[in-house]
Amino acid sequence: MADYDIIIIGSGAGGGTLAYALAPTGQQILIVERGDYIPREKANWDPTAIFLEQRYQIQEDWYDERQQPFHPEAYYVVGGNTKVYGAALQRMREQDFGELAHYDGVSPAWPFSYGDFEPYYTRAESLYKIHGRRGEDPTEPQMSADFPFPPFPHEPRIQKVADQLQKLGLQPFHATLSLNRDVENPHNRPCIRCDTCDPYPCLADAKADAQVTCVDPALAYDNVSLLKNAYVARLHTDASGQQVTQVEVQTDGETRMLTADRIVVSCGAINSAALLLRSASEAHPNGLANSSDQVGRNLMFHNHTSLVAVSAEPNPTVFQKTLSLHDFYFGGPDQDYPLGQIQLTGKAKWQRLKHQAPEDMDRAMLEYISQHSVDWWVTTEDLPSSDNRVTLTPTGDIQISYQPNNLKAHHDLIAVLEGYLKQIGFYLFWHKYMGLPVVWHQSGTCRMDTDPKTSVLDTHCRTHDVENLYVVDSSFFPAMGAVNPTLTIIANALRVGDLFKASLG
Ligand SMILES: Cc1cc2nc3c(=O)[nH]c(=O)nc-3n(C[C@H](O)[C@H](O)[C@H](O)COP(=O)(O)OP(=O)(O)OC[C@H]3O[C@@H](n4cnc5c(N)ncnc54)[C@H](O)[C@@H]3O)c2cc1C
Repeated sequence: MADYDIIIIGSGAGGGTLAYALAPTGQQILIVERGDYIPREKANWDPTAIFLEQRYQIQEDWYDERQQPFHPEAYYVVGGNTKVYGAALQRMREQDFGELAHYDGVSPAWPFSYGDFEPYYTRAESLYKIHGRRGEDPTEPQMSADFPFPPFPHEPRIQKVADQLQKLGLQPFHATLSLNRDVENPHNRPCIRCDTCDPYPCLADAKADAQVTCVDPALAYDNVSLLKNAYVARLHTDASGQQVTQVEVQTDGETRMLTADRIVVSCGAINSAALLLRSASEAHPNGLANSSDQVGRNLMFHNHTSLVAVSAEPNPTVFQKTLSLHDFYFGGPDQDYPLGQIQLTGKAKWQRLKHQAPEDMDRAMLEYISQHSVDWWVTTEDLPSSDNRVTLTPTGDIQISYQPNNLKAHHDLIAVLEGYLKQIGFYLFWHKYMGLPVVWHQSGTCRMDTDPKTSVLDTHCRTHDVENLYVVDSSFFPAMGAVNPTLTIIANALRVGDLFKASLG
């Protein structure tokens, strides 16, 4: 008899959502999470703690391809990276599921279509309480239901920017946000629309993150339990290599061997690949489930740039992240190739700006800029490349080799946005490209497809090589479009949950 029916390793968007989906089945489920609950304290909303002290970030050294150590912007806590995410969740577009020609090459097709996946997006939007208005986004894919909540309204300065951009012919729309604020019911508004949303943990528990939305509700079931502060070091198989027989967990200074009929790895794309590589054995000499040599490859991050645009007009906005632009998602004014998406971030305070300001700029000047800036986040798809990959150093640490691609499209998108902003009174622009250590949108390291020679997972997110081993997190993406990844991770976890339930009869 195994200890559990299902062990899920990791409690973030993928693992937490799958646990929630499977909780009502009565299956004995253990979630193993290396982190703890994020402490609920005033520092949650303190920009100095968040931006200057990196208070909740992991302190682990990872290594780049030149063997140089860096501290990744990653979080090991119950709920995973969603505890600090920006909660801007979007569907991929229909075209993102097919082959799409980009400036630097072709973004590969998924093994199924948007139409097959659509019902799970609808369920994900309901579960994670998405606020938005259907019909505004010029690239909106087909949707079988409206958003569950109306959008967060723009504050006056942002409304003015939206109106001005509209006059110039663009179609700005309300950002689709995963927050707990019932706009129509004043008694159900945990979200206070504050200026400490991303990348802060929510002191009011109003962000629909994986812990609040899925892990805690799953734990209300007697058949679901959580082992926190528990690091999974390796997975062991039987001699044939066909079945994972033991999960090696380090917790409380001890090593424990746990067993389950099915094992789900949901450690995030980089740690999931690292766990499989660490679990190499005689039956799997190149790493567990790695007969294709694809584990760890095709790592994607997105090309991200933070763009701070300054005008003479003050920006007293508190809750800024209400506006997005998809006008250039599939092409620009002079570009017949996709450029990507543009969205607002939370209002940048001086501590956030310090990271992209000239080094000698003093606090007073940073505060002036902060009071006059509107703060944008520009994202372009990066294409999967087998050379962009996770490996282990000889001492077993994580090593990331990553060369960004599709940068021309990204720089074009920034230039196009700046061109429009100049026409509406913005005169100073700071941009910072987010290379390593910003690993927020990590994905693709165990790609899903039908051919075991070129992919790690089948379309059920089960590994081609090991019968009872699944990977359910951001690792599965064959390509990720230019939208934020998490709604797709959540929808996929709900899809895999249905497949598990069907197999239980
Ligand atoms: C600052 C920030 C802002 C973001 N904003 C957005 C946004 O606005 N919209 C969006 O769509 N996405 C956003 N993201 C990305 C989003 O958080 C991730 O896409 C999502 O959390 C990934 O889900 P996952 O299940 O793959 O991994 P995670 O959510 O990271 O969960 C993995 C879990 O596994 C645990 N774990 C890892 N290794 C082990 C091990 N060996 N043993 C046990 N446990 C382990 C980790 O501690 C973690 O809890 C943001 C991320 C960050 C950091």
